[in-house]
Amino acid sequence: MMEHICFRCGKGKVPEVGHTCKECKLDLEANSKPPEGANDEDVLGHYVNQRVLIGCRECGTPDFGYEAGTKTEKGLKYFVLFVRCSCGANYMDMLEVRAMRLEDVGIEESE
Ligand SMILES: [Zn+2]
Ligand SMILES: [Zn+2]
Repeated sequence: MMEHICFRCGKGKVPEVGHTCKECKLDLEANSKPPEGANDEDVLGHYVNQRVLIGCRECGTPDFGYEAGTKTEKGLKYFVLFVRCSCGANYMDMLEVRAMRLEDVGIEESE
């Protein structure tokens, strides 16, 4: 089997071009947080980019189909990603859970 180099760090070995090595995946999952104050769209965009780098949970390809969205329940906001991959993988990835802020429910904070 041919070996390829991780496109993120240029060091780790990966089975296919465009994949990210194990160390980079762990690093991405552990350390990559969206910026403070980012709106929902930015938060989702951030995690979608991250999950694409990490690749499909089953086969590792960055080329999977997905839908991202938010769900609010009991004062918490869930950022989720539904993945549908050509390898047959079909799963939900919980990206982040946040406590809702006043502006999320349309209340303006008064002075
Ligand atoms: Zn790497
Ligand atoms: Zn897959």
